[in-house]
Formats: sequence, structure tokens, C-alpha cells
Amino acid sequence: MSEAMANGGPVETSGYSQEAPAVARNWGGSIHGRPVPGVNQPRNAEAVSFFLDGDEIGAAPGETILEAAKRQGTEIPHLCFMDGMRADGNCRACVVEIEGERVLAPSCCRAPKPGMKVHSRNDRARHAQRMVLELLLADAPQTPHRPDSELSHWAQRLGVERARFAPRRQPEPDLSHPAIAVRLDACIQCTRCVRACREVQVNDVIGYAGRGSDARIVFDLEDPMGESSCVGCGECVQACPTGALLEVARVEPVPAAARTVPTLCPYCGVGCQTSFHLADNRIVAVTGRNGPANWGRLCVKGRFGMDYVRHPQRLLVPMVRRADVPKSAVHLVDPGDPWAAFRETTWDEALDLAAGGLRRTFTEHGAPAMAGFGSAKGSNEEAYLFQKLMRTGFRTNNVDHCTRLCHASSVAALMECISSGAVSNQVSDVQFAECFIVIGSNPAVNHPVAATFMKNAIERGAKLILIDPRRTELARHATHLLQFNPDTDVALLNAMMHVIIEEGLTDRDFIERRTRGFEDVARTVKAYSPEAMEHVTGVPAATIRAAARLYATSKTSMIFWGMGISQHVHGTDNARCLISLALMTGQVGRRGTGLHPLRGQNNVQGASDMGLIPMFYPDYRSCEDAAVRADFEALWGVRGLDPEKGLTVVEIMKAAKRRQIRAMYIMGENPAMSDPDVQHVREALATLDFLVVQDLFLTETASFADVVLPASAFPEKTGTFTNTDRRVQLGRRALDPPGQVRQDLWIIQEIASRIGLDWSYGEARDVWSEIRRAVPSCAGITWERLEVEDSVTYPCREEGDPGEEVIFAERFPTADGRGRMVPAEYGPAEGDEPPDDEYPFVLITGRVLEHWHTGAMTRRAAVLDEIEPVPTVSVHPEDLAALRVRDGEAARLTTRRGSVVAQARADTSIPRGAVFMPFAFVEAAANILTNPALDPFGKIPEFKYCGVRVEKSPEAVATARYGVAGGPASS
Ligand code: SF4
Ligand code: SF4
Repeated sequence: MSEAMANGGPVETSGYSQEAPAVARNWGGSIHGRPVPGVNQPRNAEAVSFFLDGDEIGAAPGETILEAAKRQGTEIPHLCFMDGMRADGNCRACVVEIEGERVLAPSCCRAPKPGMKVHSRNDRARHAQRMVLELLLADAPQTPHRPDSELSHWAQRLGVERARFAPRRQPEPDLSHPAIAVRLDACIQCTRCVRACREVQVNDVIGYAGRGSDARIVFDLEDPMGESSCVGCGECVQACPTGALLEVARVEPVPAAARTVPTLCPYCGVGCQTSFHLADNRIVAVTGRNGPANWGRLCVKGRFGMDYVRHPQRLLVPMVRRADVPKSAVHLVDPGDPWAAFRETTWDEALDLAAGGLRRTFTEHGAPAMAGFGSAKGSNEEAYLFQKLMRTGFRTNNVDHCTRLCHASSVAALMECISSGAVSNQVSDVQFAECFIVIGSNPAVNHPVAATFMKNAIERGAKLILIDPRRTELARHATHLLQFNPDTDVALLNAMMHVIIEEGLTDRDFIERRTRGFEDVARTVKAYSPEAMEHVTGVPAATIRAAARLYATSKTSMIFWGMGISQHVHGTDNARCLISLALMTGQVGRRGTGLHPLRGQNNVQGASDMGLIPMFYPDYRSCEDAAVRADFEALWGVRGLDPEKGLTVVEIMKAAKRRQIRAMYIMGENPAMSDPDVQHVREALATLDFLVVQDLFLTETASFADVVLPASAFPEKTGTFTNTDRRVQLGRRALDPPGQVRQDLWIIQEIASRIGLDWSYGEARDVWSEIRRAVPSCAGITWERLEVEDSVTYPCREEGDPGEEVIFAERFPTADGRGRMVPAEYGPAEGDEPPDDEYPFVLITGRVLEHWHTGAMTRRAAVLDEIEPVPTVSVHPEDLAALRVRDGEAARLTTRRGSVVAQARADTSIPRGAVFMPFAFVEAAANILTNPALDPFGKIPEFKYCGVRVEKSPEAVATARYGVAGGPASS
């Protein structure tokens, strides 16, 4: 027994395997005031004091003996217990003796009583604890799957070396899942994985089957894990204390992790905090940290999607276009063979050429000929410097990023109605909601950890109104499912408001004190009775009425929405309706209420805050306002900033096609895949006089570059990132960049200095200092505070300000403090393309769980590409049968703009008459098909609705595999 143990001191853990549970120890739980899924054990409502091993100690309200002991430095052995989970008390490793009681008690699920005398390490308790460990070790493999597992750790600490008992027959390993190895010979049936899967992530895959010595964990109906409904979140792996469930990557001989870097996930807007476990400048595992946005949880991308940084196609040297290879919109350059179109060069030559080419165009054609796309994947500091470069160096507001393709219409409506584009309440606030609406969003796929919070809320009694043309994953948890006809959002939402007004369910006091425009909306929605809209929306009037009543009459109701609302030519109208719905019912400004447009990219909120948009400087200050311009001219030490708002992403591409835009600098964006009607975008890119692309890989966009600058990947840099909740969080550099790759901040500054800007930022923290002056809502967030706290919510206007989690409690940031309701009428818009005889289906595009955006990163992550390797089109089985296409066969999709071939997937969640296609696959780029018509306010394209023809394809589906074959052929 170690001295520390003998003294009852804290258990030290080492190595990455111990790190996971050590980090997870702080998850949720009553200690942090967060609800523990499925809590069922009695808890003390008040603090009590009791005696532990002779010393009097205190237990906080809700603490068990185990938790109170741990908090005060006494570690009691435990295996089935894990912070943040319901205590199960099944392993009995934590038994203690309580004076006056006949039998030992499991300390993990026993509340202390005042004056109770507890012994955790007397002979009787220790004997029982050791016996439990010995029995568990008897069945364990001779060579542990995880030598640093919790079981090994406790056996060592209690001096249990070998078991005296014969092992029982052990199951064969299940290696059917690409990311997770299942070797139940090491399983101790603690059920932590069951609780992780069912109660934390609420994925309901793992169950417990058999009785007595036949008891075992199973996946679904005892399916192999790889064939089960597992979504690969890895929560069970993180919970397993023995290595019975383990990352496949750890089964292979890999060097033990030498260090751990606390950082973030680079994928979606949830902003999960992670730990990268590193060996030899390589990430060997990723675990979830106890961040406020994720409580230790991750999804399959965050946990298993980081190996893209080492992909063989990573750009390692600067390149310039070969003079003998013209740009072609038809034949993209194979990212596995960049030398077919480029030659290697030095950084000096590359930067001179890049800056020189941009400056030449600026000199010859002026500011209107210049444009830049920054990245919502880059840090706040990169976004800030990029827009500053375009505005001060090239005197243009033609600077934008993918927010235009994501929530531009939501922001347009929010700015118009409440003068703020930010979310009012954070995702985790759903725990305080009695009711919540999820509309036009599939969070289980796009924001998986946010979806777990929603499912936890439902388990605790919250009611979900799910509104979507598709029957998405959350449907099985919904109280009301409104599966409406695509593109009829305004009709449906107006009908809900009609009910609320007609039945007197509005909040009159809130309307009078806090809003204006109610009468206009009331007049408009009069014509939208549910009965009249039933045939438009396809939703029974009674269901519309029930949903409206539930939302309006619940004490606290939230609204979450996604790109199913925003990516329409009606996007701004859709969002206006949601804002009116919240305002007329007073469901805003309190915990568990509010408006939350779920942001897509990990830093799309931050990039917009930093002014990476054509109409606003940092902090959403209008570039058309002379006083604002004067402020920024003073801050940046320049004169003559562009007084007119710039062009947006799609407008820039159209202007390039017309030769009005002639030179571009594109950092970490891929418009040749992400923009609608992508063939026209590729033609526009090919038309440019000069293009600089800064990226990790030779993306489809880089195919058209004159100069390609190899950029640093997320784990290779330090910077701040702002998640969907307005949380500014610190990402820390974990890896050295490979080859000649340089930091993006360095690259931007080198270009700036070559065009004559006198900048002298050292590190990201220097840029952040300037951001605090440019963005008053972040002024209170010091770099030092971020280093300590990791995450600070804005608005945070002065140092020491805790930050506001719920905003708009008293007033909206409008001139008169009131929120404005703006009516919207349902009807056709310019550019609408409803289905017709030639194109009889509706095409809906979006994401799949495993692939992010255009797939540049996730297609190069081996596990993710193995799970979802080919382009698919999901179609209702009855439609497939009518088309005489079988599940798995090739189908051709054709719209007015182009045609692609994808693998047909029979999917009952898709409504009849519609098809769904992800846009991450270059082999069948969905955006070859999409409609570039724009919402007139947000200038967001129509990604979610256009007529498409579907037919059986004699051609096979392209099966290029980045992860396996090294890259796809040109497309
Ligand atoms: S990986 Fe996630 S979904 Fe799959 S079994 Fe484990 S906890 Fe459940
Ligand atoms: S939910 Fe989003 S931020 Fe979290 S691990 Fe998944 S992709 Fe990353």
C-alpha cells in the first residue's frame, strides 16, 4: 500500500488513461449545480457533518460519503462510480463500515447523516474492498488491455496482485467498429458504459443482457458493435474503467502519451473542450474536458477525427502555379498530385508573389476589384487580422466568410428586430426549459453534444416540439412532431401565432413593455388559421394548435433553429416569425427561454464578431456610418476606409464571373465546394486574374490558385474561438506544424508588411489585446483570464465581469430598448424553384454526422471516412421503389444546373417527394445541383429547396477514398 493511500491522501493519476476519468471527475453532478442524468439515490438537502476515519468532515448538500471524502482528500476505491453519472452501487469496491450498521455500505450511493461514524480503511472495509478487486481481477486478462486502467490502478493501490480464483470462460473480441475495440474479457459489468450511452448521451445503444455469470453488455439486440446503431461518440470508452472498450488506435502498438494539452474541438459550434493526448508530436487520443459547453462529452468527430493533420495530402511547402498549366473549371487538380499544376517555391518567393499579385490588381483596377474570404475555422485573431488587411490594405469591404452560407438570414432578422445577432440563451439553458422548439435543425448530426443536453432535458420532463420536413433523430423524443412540407415555414409559424393570438395566449404585459409591431403581426397572421394552413403545411390543424398552446403556456420555452430555417430565399422571413413568436409570448430574457440559432462552424460566431463580414466592422458596427469609420480609422491608424458595404460571398463570385472582382485572397474557405451552383463558382474562380489560397490541403478552390500557402491546422496554433453560446474559449497549440507550414497569423502579417502595412503583432495574445479595444463586448476578457478559466461568456465589458449567460433580461439593445415584431407573408419568392414535371422531387442538402462541411478535414480522417465513405442520396423507400432503384444502387440526380451520381439510401425519415444529400463529397458535389437564388435581406443562398430529377444510374458511384487510397481523382 502506498504511503499516500495509507494516509488517506489523494490518489495521484498518471498517463493518459488515468487522465480521462480524472478530467471527467468534474463533469456535471450536483457539486457544480448541474443535473446528473438519472439521479435516483437519496441526497441530503442540507450540509451535514460526519466522521470519516475518525476525523469530522462536512458534506455539502447532495453529496454522498464518497464525494464528500474525495473532496476533502480521502480517496475511497471505486469503479462503477463516475462523477456526472447516476451512482449505481453495483461493484461494491467502495464499501465502508458505518458504526451501528450490520453490513457494509457502498459509499457512492449513501448519504451521510449528521454525526455518522464512517470507516473507509479499517480492516473490515479494506478486506471487503480487496476481495472485490481480487474477484474482478480473476476474470481479467493476464495482460490488461489498458495497463493504466482504473482497475489496475486500484488493484495496485490496495496491494492486490493476483487473484486466487480460476477465470471463467471469456467472450471473443468484437473488432467490428472502425474506432472502438470491444474486448469484454476485461469487462467488470460496472455498467458505466451503459449509463454513459443511455443516460449521458442518450443514444440507447448499450444494454445489459443475461443473468448471473452470463450477464454481459450488448449493443442493440446483441449485434456486433460496428453493425449496431452506435454513433461512435466514444462516451462509453471514456467511461470504461478497464479497457474493455478502447479506442482501436490504442490497441495497435502506439507510444504512450507523454503529455496532454487542454484545448478545443475544431469542428462544430458547440465548442467542446478537449484534451489532446500526445506522443512524438502526434495525437494518440482525444478525451472530453469539463467545459461549460460539453461537460466532458464529445461526438465522433471530436473524438476520432483529428488524424487529418497527418494526412499524406497535407500541404507542406508553398507552391506557385506552373506557367504551362491553365486553370480549368472542369478538371480540378488532384490533391494527391499537386505537382501536376504547381511547383514548389520558397516562402519568400511565395509571399512576394502573393502580395505582389494582389497589389498589382489593386493598383490597376482599384479596391472594387479586390475581395477576400476569411475562415470560420480560424481563430478570432486570424479573422480580425484578415478583415483588417482587406479593409486597410486593399480599402475594400468585400470581405466575407461562410456565415453567409449559414446564418446570414438569421442575423439579418435578429439585427432588424432586436439589434443583436447573438444567441440570447446558451444551449445548456435547455435544462431550465419546460418546453423547447427545434426547427430546421438536426442537432444529433450537426451539434451532437448539444443534442445530448436536449435529450437530458427531455428525460427530466421537458417537452420537445420538433418541426422539420424530415423525421430526424430527435423525433423519437418529441412530444409533438410537425413534419411539414418543405419551404412552408412562414405558413406554419404564422399559423402557430394565429392560435396564440386567437386563444389569448400572448403575454400582454411583455408586449406592452418590451416590444413594438405586435399589431402588424396580429393583422398578418389573421389569415393563417391552422385549418387554412393544414393543406399548405401538411400538418394537421390540431397538431399546430397543440404545439402553439404548449409553447405559449409553458413557463419557460426556448427556440433552437438551424439552417433549415436560414438557408432559404425566405430565410429572413422564417427567422422574423420565430422572433415574433418569442416576443409575443414573453419567452425571452429569462433562464430556459430565448432564441438560439445553432451556429455551424467552431468559430462562425467569432468570425462575425470580428468583422469578417462585408457590412460591419468588428462588434457589428456599420461600415456605412461615418462616425464608426472614424473610430476604426483612429484605432487602425489609417484614413479613407471604404464607405460602402461590400459584396457577400455569392455576390463576389457573381462579380468575379463578370470580371468586376479580379483578385482574391482566400484563407481556409472552399467556395468551389461550399457555394451553390458550384460549377459557376468554379468558372468564376478560373476567371480571376489572381488568386491566393491559404489552406491545409489542395482544396477544390486551391485548384484555381496562383499561389498556395500551406497553413497551420487547429492543433498547431493558439488562439481564441467563440462558440454558439457566445463563449470565448482558448485553443492551445499542441503540435509542431509539419514541413514548412507556418502560422496563419504570421502569413497574414507577412502579406500585410509586403503591401506596406506597418503591423507588429507578436503572438495571438497581442492581437487579442487590440480586439478588446475594437469589440467592447469582449473588453473584459483578458488573455490571462482565458488561460485560467478557458472559457468566458460575452458580453463581458470590464475586467472581473462574470459575463452574461442570459441577455435581454431588461431591454433589447435597440434605440428604444424594445424588440420589434416584423410580419412575414407566405408566398413564392424570386428564384424559388418548386418541383415540376421535369424535376419532380425537392432536393434538401445538409450534413451527415461523420463529415464536416466540404469534407476537407473529415474525409481525411480515417475513421470518419471509413464509417461514411461514399456520397449518398437518402430517399423514402416507397419513392425508391417507384423509381425502380434499390437501396445501395447508383442514382443520378439532375437539376437545372447539373447532374451527379450518388448511392441511393432508403430512409423512412425522408418525406415522400423529397431527397436529402450531404455536401461533403467531391465525387458527387451536391452544390453542383443547388439553387444560387438569394434571400434578399441576408443574401443567403437557397440550399434547402429546389426541384430535382432522380433516376437509376447506369454509371457506378465514384468511390474515391481519401482515408484509404490517398485521394480522389479529379472531378
Ligand atoms: S460509442 Fe457512444 S453511441 Fe456507441 S455504444 Fe458507446 S456510448 Fe453508445
Ligand atoms: S459536438 Fe461539435 S464541438 Fe463537440 S466534439 Fe462534436 S463536432 Fe466537436
